[in-house]
Amino acid sequence: MNFSADSLRPDNLSVTLTKEKVAARFPKTLSLLSELVRIPGIAWPAFPAETLQQSAERVAGEFKATGIFETVEIRRAIVNGEEGALAVVAHRAAKNGRPQVLLYAHHDVQPPGDSERWETPPFQPTVVGDRIFGRGAADDKAGIVAHLTAIEVLRDMVGPDFEVGISVFIEGEEEAGSPTFRKFLEENRDVLQADVIVVADSSNWTTTTPALTTTLRGLVSQVIEISTLDHALHSGMYGGAVPDAMTAMIRLLATLHDSDGNVNVAGLKHGKASELNYSDEALAIDAGLLPGVKQIGSGSILDRIWMKPSITVIGLDAVPVAQSSNTMLPSIKAKISMRIAPGESPIDALNLLRSHLEANLPFGAKLQYGEVEQGKPFADENQGWAKELASASLGAAFGETAVDIGIGGSIPFIADLIEVFPKAQILVTGVEDPDSRAHSPNESVHVDTLRSAIVAESLFLYKGNDLRVN
Ligand SMILES: [Zn+2]
Repeated sequence: MNFSADSLRPDNLSVTLTKEKVAARFPKTLSLLSELVRIPGIAWPAFPAETLQQSAERVAGEFKATGIFETVEIRRAIVNGEEGALAVVAHRAAKNGRPQVLLYAHHDVQPPGDSERWETPPFQPTVVGDRIFGRGAADDKAGIVAHLTAIEVLRDMVGPDFEVGISVFIEGEEEAGSPTFRKFLEENRDVLQADVIVVADSSNWTTTTPALTTTLRGLVSQVIEISTLDHALHSGMYGGAVPDAMTAMIRLLATLHDSDGNVNVAGLKHGKASELNYSDEALAIDAGLLPGVKQIGSGSILDRIWMKPSITVIGLDAVPVAQSSNTMLPSIKAKISMRIAPGESPIDALNLLRSHLEANLPFGAKLQYGEVEQGKPFADENQGWAKELASASLGAAFGETAVDIGIGGSIPFIADLIEVFPKAQILVTGVEDPDSRAHSPNESVHVDTLRSAIVAESLFLYKGNDLRVN
């Protein structure tokens, strides 16, 4: 279904009205966010399951209280006898051909980490300046209150008989790697099926420039083992005449990049990032680059971190220095981790990596492959009206044009959403900004950014309520 860009642009009157309605509800939104931050639901085995259950019940109660859903339930999936964490699902069917919109967020949070590095207690929401600090204040409890408030604002503006369909999925194990996500989608297909999926779990470009995350890199990792000898040798007896496995491994790994630090594996895909300003100085500060250490690779910084492959050796089984002796190692293992560009296939990338390793193996060393991990990249190729409408709504809400951004890492469950719901348009939106420090100590959400994100989502639903797509 196609709509003209004009017809998707919210008019000034509805923008003003939406801002008023959001402003009226916003104090309640912030107090609910604070209450949610006080419930430390963590889906890691070392943390109590009771708080996660309490968190799910609280969230379900809030969606129930909107009074607009046909069903609100707490459910879990079981995979290989292991129970997944409790998730909240709510559903209200679209009427008269209006779109069905699935709103996703997650209610579990990262563990607090080193408490000494927190300047405020992690589970005691604290306002400092323009921000609310606390674990989950941004990732992703802000996503939950954004969805909830947008639904309430839609109801305030249109009345309880609105026709756009709304489904809600508040996951409970995202920070634990979503182990039962795929099964959950399959078992709850009927209530989660949607024309558009709004994943509110990413960042804006700045606190004032809204963004849609339109690309994510994928991941391929490969464990390799290199052998050159059938047993360890005294380096004084044979060194200089036969190769040890460490030397062979180092020489092989060194071929993965050229002398400028570009990935040297032939045939991998790459693309171009949006023309956004990210300075060398900002990169140096954000990455903690030591004085005098140079960047690697070519192209803009954003091309390199969003749209090109990268390779990092993330593990090497070697003898610790303290235990080293004058011994030539017969075999050694390494783990090679590769970020792959949007549009790349993990299998193709893996095969290209393997071909490179085989072609560059020094000294006729033996190469064996171990464990492989892979995650698909994301590129929002089949976006239609939903992307247009989301960009227009963000622009109207923030008063600045929305930009398309990438993430150099992955959100693994996005690949599952695409596979289970191939027809859905997926919008990755954000309540965060670059200072939100999700997963780190001193996580926070910027209050004005959160409010603008809610205005944008409210406008999206309000305009969506007028569209006939089915
Ligand atoms: Zn998150």
